[in-house]
Amino acid sequence: MSIRENVTQLLAELPEGVQLVVAAKGKTPEEILEAVGAGARIIGENYLQEAERAFEVVGARVEWHLIGHLQRNKVGRAVKLFDMIETVDSSSLAREIDKRCAQIGKTMPVLIEVNSGREPQKSGVLPEGVESLVREISALPNIRVEGLMTMGPDVGDPEDARPYFTETKKVFDHLKGLGLPGIFIKHLSMGMTNSYRVAIEEGANIVRIGSKIFGESPG
Ligand SMILES: *Cc1c(COP(=O)(O)O)cnc(C)c1O
Repeated sequence: MSIRENVTQLLAELPEGVQLVVAAKGKTPEEILEAVGAGARIIGENYLQEAERAFEVVGARVEWHLIGHLQRNKVGRAVKLFDMIETVDSSSLAREIDKRCAQIGKTMPVLIEVNSGREPQKSGVLPEGVESLVREISALPNIRVEGLMTMGPDVGDPEDARPYFTETKKVFDHLKGLGLPGIFIKHLSMGMTNSYRVAIEEGANIVRIGSKIFGESPG
């Protein structure tokens, strides 16, 4: 099936209230445009440089989410381009985003990346560290926490991903229940090609999908 058909089918399948982020790492602007032509509204990029190249062609007709790790020395460029940063996992990164956003008069919506699999080699905050990070960030004027994102471990059977999504949803509900002033916890970004159906069952309202749209080519 074509990119266009894959996006059309996915958009028809996703329940109301669940947003599709097209995970576009390794894809050309032309491939992204085909997805946009089929109704995709949010593009997820892992790498700043790739995003900048794609943005030159695709532009601001879509929203751009950063879904890969952000290095502090690239924050200045990242905040100019992205509409949301899904991968905040430290207060030092948050403070840098806040500072750079203040310089350009922007407030950046962000998600906290949760290392739900507790994998030492992966980025993200451990579930029990999320609340204190959110409290710290809530004091910064130019960055706004709007929810959580998680990858979860690579699993073959999507059922094996379920416990990680369940745990992340618990943290999400806990944060919402805190009712922190000025914080609106609304987005829960979890689930990829292999696991998005399970993720939605566990409460995801953003899914990030790449290979189901573009095919299995190396990204
Ligand atoms: C690549 C990627 C995805 C999409 O993965 P697929 O298995 O290709 O759907 C989602 N989220 C992140 C952070 C990614 O890097």
